[in-house]
Amino acid sequence: MAFEGLTSRLQSVFSKLRGKGKVSEDDVNEAMREVRLALLEADVNFKVVKEFIAKVKEKAIGSEVMDSFTPGMVIIDIVNKELTELMGGSQAKLAKSNKPPTVIMMAGLQGAGKTTTSAKLAKLLLKQNHRPLLVAGDIYRPAAIKQLQVLGEQIGVPVFALGDGVNPVEIARQALQHAKDNSNDYLIIDTAGRLHVDEQLMEELRQIHEVTKPDEVLLVVDAMTGQDAVNVAESFHSQLELTGVVLTKLDGDTRGGAALSVKAVTGCPIKFAALGEKIDALEPFHPERMASRILG
Ligand code: GDP
Repeated sequence: MAFEGLTSRLQSVFSKLRGKGKVSEDDVNEAMREVRLALLEADVNFKVVKEFIAKVKEKAIGSEVMDSFTPGMVIIDIVNKELTELMGGSQAKLAKSNKPPTVIMMAGLQGAGKTTTSAKLAKLLLKQNHRPLLVAGDIYRPAAIKQLQVLGEQIGVPVFALGDGVNPVEIARQALQHAKDNSNDYLIIDTAGRLHVDEQLMEELRQIHEVTKPDEVLLVVDAMTGQDAVNVAESFHSQLELTGVVLTKLDGDTRGGAALSVKAVTGCPIKFAALGEKIDALEPFHPERMASRILG
């Protein structure tokens, strides 16, 4: 499961602190040194770690905390709150346009889970009584269109597709009109991915952005890739204003670096977490729940 290493490391640091009736500045420094190592080992961005430790120390060292009745618990609570802040503080909700359809453009590298996540998101919206329309805009990856059609059928959501002979920008334009004509209140556009971020891909995404004016541009990143996921998010964000990130494969044994760094590095909130291959394995991302889960 994700975060296993980090959780057990933090638990051992905290059990030492918890056991102490009195906590000295040295104790806090020692504990923070260990937390720092645990975060670095979990592949959290080093700048993020540095700032995180500084913030926790600033709050933890001081008579108010150290002379309190249960200083260990207070410090753990500070770490919990700062971890929550690091991941965005509170839940970042999906945008909703007051002029339907709300357009959601999905972006990401090939294999990150874009097509699967598009369908999962449609299912989530369907459960909330919305009328989503999925758009098969990845015309390059063999079978991506078919994959989306199969998923759409499985969940009972229509899929707008024009095959692989039509330009994705044109597909997106027609899909938007189709959604308006058919009262679909959400349009989820699956776009092409590449193995690496490249100019051609970005140009196509920019053009789809231009014609559909999305309310959300969600970048799908594979949490298993750690800091690479954060680098990918940074480079997409610099060229295409992202409104949020979806972290996939959190069911795998990711060390946690992407989840803990991506908001701090890019400024983009994590809006959803995908925790499995099944179609309902997508949940809104709750920073406070994730922090509690990491602390075990
Ligand atoms: P795309 O190229 O970005 O469209 O990626 P796909 O949606 O085709 O997903 C690539 C692979 O990752 C597929 O085998 C998916 O089943 C798998 N996948 C996607 N999301 C998750 C997830 O949250 N957990 C796991 N374990 N697998 C996932």
